[in-house]
Amino acid sequence: MNGGSLSGLEGVRSRVVVLGSMNMDLVVQVDQIPAPGETVLGRRFFSAGGGKGANQAVAAARLGARVSMVGCVGSDLYGRELLRLVRADGVDVRHVERVPGASGVAVIVVAEGGQNQIAVAPGANWMVTPEMVSGAALAIRRADLLVAQLEVPLEAVVAAARLAREAGVPFLLNAAPARADLGPLLEMVTLLVVNETELAVVSGRPVREGEEAAAAEAMLDRGPEAVLVTLGERGALVADRRGVHMAPAFRVKAVDTTAAGDAFVGALAAAFRGLERLRETVVYACAAGALACTRAGAQPSLPSSDEVRRFLENAQVL
Ligand code: ADP
Repeated sequence: MNGGSLSGLEGVRSRVVVLGSMNMDLVVQVDQIPAPGETVLGRRFFSAGGGKGANQAVAAARLGARVSMVGCVGSDLYGRELLRLVRADGVDVRHVERVPGASGVAVIVVAEGGQNQIAVAPGANWMVTPEMVSGAALAIRRADLLVAQLEVPLEAVVAAARLAREAGVPFLLNAAPARADLGPLLEMVTLLVVNETELAVVSGRPVREGEEAAAAEAMLDRGPEAVLVTLGERGALVADRRGVHMAPAFRVKAVDTTAAGDAFVGALAAAFRGLERLRETVVYACAAGALACTRAGAQPSLPSSDEVRRFLENAQVL
C-alpha cells in the first residue's frame, strides 16, 4: 500500500497530554489457563509497563509526539520502575505524582493461542484528583490534543476536559473501561474512541455485528465531533458529520493483541491534524494497531514511527 498520502502526518511534532493509568503488568505464560483452585506450572515470566494511560503516552511518544503524562504511581518499587519506563521513551513525567501505597498492578496469565486471564489492582491510579489535574493546567492549555481513558477517577477526567474546552484544545476520550454515565463528559469530547463492546455500554443499547455504524452515528448527537470504533481484525470505523467511513485492518500474523487499542489511540493522537484529515489519520492508527499485534506485551509491542512508515510502504489490507 502506498503510504505517500500519509507522509504529511509526520514531521511536525504535536504536543499531547495524556491523563491516565500506569500499571506494572506481571505476565506468566502458560500452556493452559488454570481453573479456580488449580496451580499450573508456567513457561516464562516477564514484567512490562502497562495501563492504558501509560501505553497510549508511550505509543504517541514513539511515533514522534511530545507527550506529557498526568497520573499517579505508588511509593513502591513498581512506582519508580513505571516512571523510568515511560521516561525512557521521552514522556515528560513532571505531572505524575508518587503517592503513598501500591502502584497499579495487573496480574496476567496468557495461554498459548492468546487466551488470557487478568486481575487488576488500580492502586495509585485511583488517587488521581482534579487538583492534580489543575497542576497540569498549563500543559493542557498548550497541548494540541488532550487524551484520557477511564482507568482514573471520572472527576479527574472531567476536570481535564473542562480545562481543554476552555482553551479550545481538542479532547480524545477512549471510553475504556466503558461506563454508561458519561453524559456531560461526552458533550466535551472531540474524538470518542471505543471498541464494539464499549460502544454498546456507552450508548446504552446492544450493538450487534453490522450495527456499529448506526450506533456510532447515533453517538454523534450526544456531543463528540467524531466517533471511532475499533473492530479488531475488521479494522476501524469513523463516524463524523461527513458520514461513516470504514478503514480496513492490515494483514499481520497476530501473536498477542494486548495494547492494539492503545497503539491505535496513541497513533491517532500523534498524527491528529484536525477533523478534516481524520480518515487518513485512522489508516495510520490501524497500521500502528496491527503492528502491536505482532509482538507480546503492552509497551514492548508499541511500534516506532520508522516501523509504521516501513510497514505502510509494504502492507496489505485485510
Ligand atoms: P481493543 O484492544 O481496544 O479491543 P482492537 O482489538 O479493536 O482494540 O484493536 C485496535 C486496532 O488495532 C483495530 O482497529 C485494528 O486496526 C488493529 N488490529 C487489532 N487486531 C488486529 C488484527 N488481528 N489484525 C490487524 N489489525 C488489528
